Amino acid sequence: MALGKDYAGQDCALARALELVGERWTLLVVRDVFYGVRRFSDFQAHLDIPRAVLTARLSALVDGGVLERRRYQDSPPRDEYVLTEAGVALWPAVYALAQWAVAFLPTAAGAIREFAHVTCDAVVDPAGLCAVCGRVPPATELETRPGPGMATYHRDDPVSVALRRPHRLIEPLQPALAEARA
Ligand SMILES: [Zn+2]
Repeated sequence: MALGKDYAGQDCALARALELVGERWTLLVVRDVFYGVRRFSDFQAHLDIPRAVLTARLSALVDGGVLERRRYQDSPPRDEYVLTEAGVALWPAVYALAQWAVAFLPTAAGAIREFAHVTCDAVVDPAGLCAVCGRVPPATELETRPGPGMATYHRDDPVSVALRRPHRLIEPLQPALAEARA
């Protein structure tokens, strides 16, 4: 549910951001789109999120300009969700928040995923910096790779299975998903 009321009284940029992405599940949906998840049933399989909540979060993200809805099948009608420019620009926030948890809320197994700068074939540091080229690559130049924690990560839904292998961020996970279901 929403965090009670809105933050109308808070004249702050962070409050405006949280108004859109601060609800429970919202950033996990956004994270999944970065991982290449695009379809309703795939979000559901990966997140174990109640159907009505997922519907509400996707609609809010579309209304807020973070996701764009695209019809991929007409009968029955089915939409998929892709990141807008504003959505792609959320990556540093998503990554920083996850890295904060790695540092301050660590697990014994370690991070499930790492992120590598594809052109340099190098894992970026907690600040997102690639040591090879000295840049902070945008999400479009990153891939997710299994991290040390993957060895003890046992989810076996098709999205989790497909993401056990390296996957370029934002690119559709669909081909790997079809394979994971086969
Ligand atoms: Zn690099």
